[in-house]
Parts: sequence; structure tokens; C-alpha cells
Amino acid sequence: MTDMQLRSVPVPEKVRHLVIVLGDQLDLQSSALEGFDPMQDVVWMAEVAEESTHVWSAKQRIAVFLSAMRHFADDLVTRGLPLHYTRLEDDGNRGTLALQLEESIRQLQPAALVLTAPGDWRVLQSLRAVASQHQLAIDLRDDTHFFSTVREFAEHAKGRKQLRLEYWYRELRHKHGILMDGKQPLGGQWNFDADNRESFGKAGPQNVPPPARFVPDAISREVIALVDSRFADHPGTLHSFAWPVTRDQALLALQAFIAQRLPLFGLYEDAMWSGEAWLYHSHLSCALNLKLLNPREVVQAAEQAYHAGHAPLAAVEGFIRQILGWREYVRGIYWTQMLGYLERNALNSEAELPGWYWTGETDMACLKDAITQTLEHGYAHHIQRLMVTGLYSLLLGVKPQAVHQWYLGVYVDAVEWVELPNTLGMSQFGDGGLMASKPYVASGKYIQRMSNYCKGCRYDPAQSTGASACPYTTLYWDFLIRHETLLKKNPRMAMQLKNLGRLDQPARAAISAQATAHRQLQLPTDQPEPSA
Ligand SMILES: Cc1cc2nc3c(=O)[nH]c(=O)nc-3n(C[C@H](O)[C@H](O)[C@H](O)COP(=O)(O)OP(=O)(O)OC[C@H]3O[C@@H](n4cnc5c(N)ncnc54)[C@H](O)[C@@H]3O)c2cc1C
Ligand code: SF4
Repeated sequence: MTDMQLRSVPVPEKVRHLVIVLGDQLDLQSSALEGFDPMQDVVWMAEVAEESTHVWSAKQRIAVFLSAMRHFADDLVTRGLPLHYTRLEDDGNRGTLALQLEESIRQLQPAALVLTAPGDWRVLQSLRAVASQHQLAIDLRDDTHFFSTVREFAEHAKGRKQLRLEYWYRELRHKHGILMDGKQPLGGQWNFDADNRESFGKAGPQNVPPPARFVPDAISREVIALVDSRFADHPGTLHSFAWPVTRDQALLALQAFIAQRLPLFGLYEDAMWSGEAWLYHSHLSCALNLKLLNPREVVQAAEQAYHAGHAPLAAVEGFIRQILGWREYVRGIYWTQMLGYLERNALNSEAELPGWYWTGETDMACLKDAITQTLEHGYAHHIQRLMVTGLYSLLLGVKPQAVHQWYLGVYVDAVEWVELPNTLGMSQFGDGGLMASKPYVASGKYIQRMSNYCKGCRYDPAQSTGASACPYTTLYWDFLIRHETLLKKNPRMAMQLKNLGRLDQPARAAISAQATAHRQLQLPTDQPEPSA
């Protein structure tokens, strides 16, 4: 496909099924395409501005979706599948999925719609509404890019007062026979987290393999130019754009991860280092969420690496836990808790998100590094998201909904089913403990232990008051003071509250005053408004 002029396959005169393929459903094996008959059916895809503007999306995120969609469309046409594709810049583009679909229904008069369950509640509702307006049946099919179904998760959750990753993860290990020795976990343990908590030490990371990156081809270059002009005022840059946007590229990225990074994935899973965006992480979340990869093949490749003696069990279990455990768990939470989940705010946090989250212009070295890298690549690894950007907004007391919009906008892997529970539940404790057993709170000393950020910072993580006090440390104690009554009900917070008990009243008052002063300084300025 050159100049993005889609070659076309003739559309049947009478359309039986209009098969909707969304931007995060780019797999020829997807359930929506099962039983596809090119003599009667048509694939429907649309690029619409709404998907890049309903949250203030970064350029990398917009570009990765558009480029992957265009590559997938090209592949469909090469294989002879009739396709009705609307490009962002097409005349008459109606701007939203719902309006664009209505237009196509009028034009093609299908007898029914077929759709794999979308990853976003909002999208599902809007497409369902169109189907019902036009009195069209919609055949909604399970998304097979997960080990479990939402029904299975709902069954697991039924009657439980608390949901915990560990129980769900073990159930799935049993059911799918992954890393099992009969009925027992391989190596006699379900969890090797204790082996997976190293920092890099003074010398820093050594000989980290370069990440699998892909030089943009003609399609990607065209998308980059389009995004740069159409979304010029959106955050981030595209000069480093190099994400896998086809299945072949995603498979190469998977192979490279297994061969080069997996053996040290576990050991350095929580470690951070200034200027080192990639470390030993897989960088596969985007390919997984676009469905260029199936989690089954990713887990299988990791398990094989263990059996071949290529990677230790702790690393392989740690990696598989992220995919078979966390990925399945957050999806179950999203679909069993929506719609109310979006509004939850258990800590009554009401502050605005500081404006510099969109630019990285702050003197806090850890935040500057994590945000700059995010805007440059659309990527930050888990501990940067949880214990740098997420921790700071939690301690500052930012509205979980504002934090959610930032995370949904800036990462290339952000789709609401995975982003929302991670942000609102795990990172901001907005669901009051449904997802995580306690708030992930720590002082600047945690960041000091796990990185070299504090060395290059004007603040001191050991200080909670005074001119060089680390804002994390001040806000950490302030958080415990502000939420002491609520947190006392949580036995897992006992040790942290015991330490708080050692602070006398003058010390508490000084911390509260310093936290208030810091908060005043972070009020947002000139935050950009979403463009139309
Ligand atoms: C506040 C916050 C927001 C997040 N938003 C997203 C998001 O929008 N999209 C997203 O895919 N992940 C999100 N995560 C989870 C995690 O941070 C990313 O999946 C991970 O950083 C992606 O990088 P990677 O592919 O190198 O992951 P690796 O560290 O290599 O992990 C391997 C894979 O495991 C899966 N995984 C790991 N952790 C999680 C998790 N907590 N939940 C679900 N899957 C997980 C991903 O598919 C990932 O590719 C978020 C985490 C936090 C704390
Ligand atoms: S001193 Fe505080 S603000 Fe500075 S890098 Fe360390 S944790 Fe971050």
C-alpha cells in the first residue's frame, strides 16, 4: 500500500455480515473473522478522530494505532478479503466510530454486524446503540486473546469479599498446566518474587541488549507525517517511533526478548536507572494489546526457554505471572466492575494533575526522567508507572479520574480494560482495596534504593521537611497522617502506621505544612485542551 491508497477487493452486492475490526483487534485469527466468507461478508475498519481526542492522546500512541491498522488493512486486502476502510483524512470522515458505522450501514445495508468484544466499555455501548438504532443483530464474540473469559473471572469472584491476584493466577496455572509439575507448581513455589527485587548497584546496568526497534516503512512514515500535522499540539514526539506494527515484527520482538532479556527479567524487574528506558523488560504490551501477539504464544515461548535451560525459573515465573496473572486479572476486574469503577474515589482525592505531567518540566529527577521517556517513546516500565508517576499523584492527592486520563493518553499500550484497573485500582487505591490489598505508598527512600535518580536530584530522600526535603518523603508522611483513620483498619499498613506513631505533634505539623506548600506550587498551569 503506497500513499495509503488502499487497494480494494470488490464488496459483495448483498452484504451478509459487516465484520467490525477495531484498532486493537488486529489478528487474522480473531473470533470476529471466524467463518468469514469473502463472497458475502465485508470487514469494516475506521480511523476516527474521537479515538485520539476523547483523552488527550500522545503522538506515539496515535501513530502506533494508525500504523498498525493500515498495515493490517493492507494484509487483509492482499489476502483477498473485501474491506471497507475509512482513513482519518478521507473526505466526509464522520469523526466517531458510531457515526462512521451508521454511514457504512446506510451504504452497505448489511444483514448483521459481527464484532469481537471490544476492550473499552464506551466503545461497546456506542456500537451496540448503533446496532439497535438500525435494528441490526450484533453477533458479539469472545476475545480469544486471553486465557480466561470474563464469565470465568466473574465465577471466580463470586462470593469473595476480596479479590487477589494470587488466587486467580494459581487457578489459571492449574487450568492451563503452565509451569506445573503434576498438581504442584514447578520448583515447589508459586511465586519467586523474593528473588526478583534487585537494584543495579553502584555500577548501574551493564551491557543491556538494545531493544527490538523497527525502522518506519512507507506506511508508518505517512502516518507519522499525518499525526505530526493533524495532532501537532498533542504531547510527545515521533522522531523515535520504532514500535512493531505488524505481526511479523511483533514475532521478531518476542524472539529477541526471549533470547536476550528474559534471563535477567526477574532479577531487575523493579529496578530503574536514569536514561535507561528499556532495561530487561519485554516491551511487548503494545503488540499484545493490539493483538499482533497472542498471550498463549508469549507464555509458551517463555516456558520453553525455561525447559531449554536458557532462563532461570524465577525469571520465567516472574514474566509469566505478569501475563497469565496480572493481565487476566485486570481485565476481569474491568469488565466485572464497569461502569461504576470509573467514578470510584475511595480516598476522596480532588487535586488537579500538575501541568508538567504533560511536559516533564519538573526539578524532581525521577519524575523528569520517567515523564520525558514516556513522551519520547510512549513507554515506561511498570515500576516507573507505579512507583514514580503513580506514587507521586497518589501522595499528592490527585483525582483518580485525572490520573486515569493521563495514563490512557500517553502510553502506546493503553487500552481502557488494562489501563483503568492498573491506574485507578492498583496505583491510586481509588477502589478502596478491591484490586490491591493496600495502597502502594513509599517515601523517596524506595526510589533511592531501586534507582540512581536521587543522586542527580536537588532533593534528599532522607528529609521530610526543609528546603531540600524530597517531595515524596514529605507527601508520604502527609498521606499517612491524612488517611490514618482509614488505614488503621488495614492490617497490612500496621508497620507503616507504627512508624508514623513515632512522629510527635510538632513533626507532624511541620510535615503537613510543607506538604500544603508543595501542593500549592503544583497547581496546573496552561494544561492543553483536547483538540477536536
Ligand atoms: C498506573 C499504571 C498504568 C498502566 N497502564 C497500562 C496500560 O495502559 N496498558 C498495559 O498493557 N499495561 C499497563 N500497565 C501495566 C504495566 O506497567 C505494563 O503492562 C508494562 O509496563 C508494559 O511494559 P512491558 O511490555 O515491557 O512489560 P513487562 O514488564 O515486560 O511485562 C510483560 C507483560 O506482562 C503484562 N503486564 C505486566 N504488568 C501488567 C499489569 N499490571 N497489568 C496487565 N498486564 C501486565 C504486559 O502485557 C507486559 O507486556 C500499567 C501499570 C500501572 C502501574
Ligand atoms: S530525591 Fe525524591 S524527587 Fe529527587 S529523585 Fe529521589 S525520590 Fe525523586
